[in-house]
Amino acid sequence: MPEIIEVEAARHVLAEHALEREIAKVYAPDTWFLKRGTTAAALRHALVGNAFVAARRLGKQIVLDTRDPGVRLGVHLGMSGRVLVDDPKATARRPEGSGARSRPVLIEAGDPLVYASNRRVSQWHRFGVHFADGGSFMLRDPRRLGAAELDPDEDRLGPDAMTITAAQVDAALGQRTAPIKAVLMDQHRIAGLGNLLVDEILWRAGIDPNRPPATLGAHERKALHRTIRTTLRALDRRGGSHTGDLPRDLDRPCPRDGAPLARTRVGGRTTFWCPAHQR
Ligand SMILES: [Zn+2]
Repeated sequence: MPEIIEVEAARHVLAEHALEREIAKVYAPDTWFLKRGTTAAALRHALVGNAFVAARRLGKQIVLDTRDPGVRLGVHLGMSGRVLVDDPKATARRPEGSGARSRPVLIEAGDPLVYASNRRVSQWHRFGVHFADGGSFMLRDPRRLGAAELDPDEDRLGPDAMTITAAQVDAALGQRTAPIKAVLMDQHRIAGLGNLLVDEILWRAGIDPNRPPATLGAHERKALHRTIRTTLRALDRRGGSHTGDLPRDLDRPCPRDGAPLARTRVGGRTTFWCPAHQR
């Protein structure tokens, strides 16, 4: 499932390969995938003849700015979404003799270069655009839980987890009495932390996921902020949000102290943690 690390990789692919290319056609066969009143007709009106000029990210929300300052496209990868971009320029950059020159290059976040064609119509392609240069950007989403929308509301999201400051973590926690896990996963408080990452962060920080933020002192809050930043960096380097150290498996002990792990529900989500060192 895409967490903030995977969404950032998808944003990077869009920033590298989908900008400044004139949009010739909108592919929006699945109206269920379009959210907040966005229609295929509105997308065509806003995007055809236009071009993306920036790919930004706020939490797990990708926002594509266009040449028209009044038009922004929001893209959400949901539980299984991948971004795929056909870039003829990338084909041209392939080394001599690679044999790949005549084929379009499909850039997919996570797998830098996949030789295949986006033009092959896939039942999992929920949304995308065809560029005037012959390439395309498609969102492939087998589970259909992603979304595309015009002019996404960016104000409803808290500060981004990858760039959040210690003061912003402190403000997000406040004197709240809900379990800290639920507060960290609340996208209005901090944007971008999902179930897997929050379990890993609290395990590394040694904080009980059930504990209310109101009970955390200044030193613990600073330490938690550092752990958020270092965990995201470490897992990004390792290759994704699934590469954490906390096993999601009760047959394996806590890697830190060998104690048995617990699996409970916190904030409505399955939670793995170590009752021996998370307090
Ligand atoms: Zn432990």
